[in-house]
Amino acid sequence: MSSRTAHRLACDEPDLASYDLLAPQLSGGKDSAVMNCVFMEAAVRAGVADRVISYHASLGVLEWPAVVVDGVRYPGVSELAALQSAAFGISADRHIEVTRTLPAPDGSRMVHSLLTEIAAYGRFPRMGSPYCRKAAKESVVSAAWTPLVTRMKRELGRPVRILKVMGLRSDEGPDRKKRPAFRTVQSNSARIVDEWLPVKEWTTAAVKEWHATALVPYSWTYDSAPGAGDWAGTSRCSCSLCVYASRRDLLLSVARRPRLADLYAEVEQARGDSFRADWRITDLIHHAQTCEAPDPGVICPDDGPDFTALQQQVRTALEVEPRKTPDLARDSGRALCNGCTSVD
Ligand code: SF4
Repeated sequence: MSSRTAHRLACDEPDLASYDLLAPQLSGGKDSAVMNCVFMEAAVRAGVADRVISYHASLGVLEWPAVVVDGVRYPGVSELAALQSAAFGISADRHIEVTRTLPAPDGSRMVHSLLTEIAAYGRFPRMGSPYCRKAAKESVVSAAWTPLVTRMKRELGRPVRILKVMGLRSDEGPDRKKRPAFRTVQSNSARIVDEWLPVKEWTTAAVKEWHATALVPYSWTYDSAPGAGDWAGTSRCSCSLCVYASRRDLLLSVARRPRLADLYAEVEQARGDSFRADWRITDLIHHAQTCEAPDPGVICPDDGPDFTALQQQVRTALEVEPRKTPDLARDSGRALCNGCTSVD
């Protein structure tokens, strides 16, 4: 019997007791809240809730921040991930926020943003080459496991078995639909990592219905304005400006985070590679300002020290030759409207 079969029970639910570490990946979005609820119920049933450590791969300034509207504070994505962890019984010391770092000139580690990585690399991520997910999320969490794996492998005398639990759903797109609900994603002498998607077949409508009575708030960006409760904002919630987002999401995001959009445009203009193969962010900004954009509901100031540090880091990266020759995909753009295809 293969290890994959040996560690699974009926109904696509893996045998949670066969793992040494159970690791839900909390993005802070609407799906990860549902996933953690479903997963933690299963972990409690299996008597292994004490083996759970939740992880949030923070995208720093690029993810949706907290906002204050009419004296009410709406949490940012990293805070939501921590709330999603605590709401289903994971203690604060077992929720770990990780982020990509690089050595700083003084020998310490410094945050290395995904946008800085894009600036240094010279190309934006593309369909079929989503290096951003690996660089900013998967490899960061995997690296965070290493000290634990080293210690546990010594104690156990065998590879450490890890179950990575994610909130991906079929409804999100063809790639996600094709992804199996359970698979082994890494196997070597130190660790065997399986991936489980417990809410893969939940519909978007079911997720929203679940949130109507949930113990945790959902991100303000899903609404037309913070607190509106109408799900008429962005459809996704991770990087505010995701290269795979829909046209409407991008126009709304550009209007909500104009200073961040301008920083993406700086990278685009300096490197020559367009934000997406079909749209330049320069055109999206222009279109949002002059032709059409959904009412943002709120505008993030992006004027704090973290934003300034990101700006400096990105501009420093742009002073150096890119690691990869830009794809120069800018000329193949789809029209946003008659007036928005030829902005220079
Ligand atoms: S949100 Fe989009 S741009 Fe950001 S890491 Fe994920 S796929 Fe890449």
